[in-house]
Amino acid sequence: MAYKNPKDPRQREANKRWRDSHPGWWKNKKRRNNTTYLREIILDFLIKRDGLICGFCKGSLENSKIHLDHIQPVALGGPNTMENIRLAHPACNLKDSHAIRKQTLGY
Ligand SMILES: [Zn+2]
Repeated sequence: MAYKNPKDPRQREANKRWRDSHPGWWKNKKRRNNTTYLREIILDFLIKRDGLICGFCKGSLENSKIHLDHIQPVALGGPNTMENIRLAHPACNLKDSHAIRKQTLGY
């Protein structure tokens, strides 16, 4: 199909029109996927609500990787809502999930 050839002037004109009518299209391209985008929104919300603070040790999460922790674990019937999520250090979060597993499964 001739018009699909990117060197075809008509196709180039159509591409240009599309770009002009979709400002910011290249920004969307940068987002790897929707999950990354959603995580950014959740992080933004939690940082505004709680600050950049670990829910376990209350230490600063600055310069640290951030985990999202379910206060009441989903595995134990906790809801998947913002009220049930807080920020945590990866190490604090893992320590906690090990403790919960020990409590509930015995190992
Ligand atoms: Zn911590």
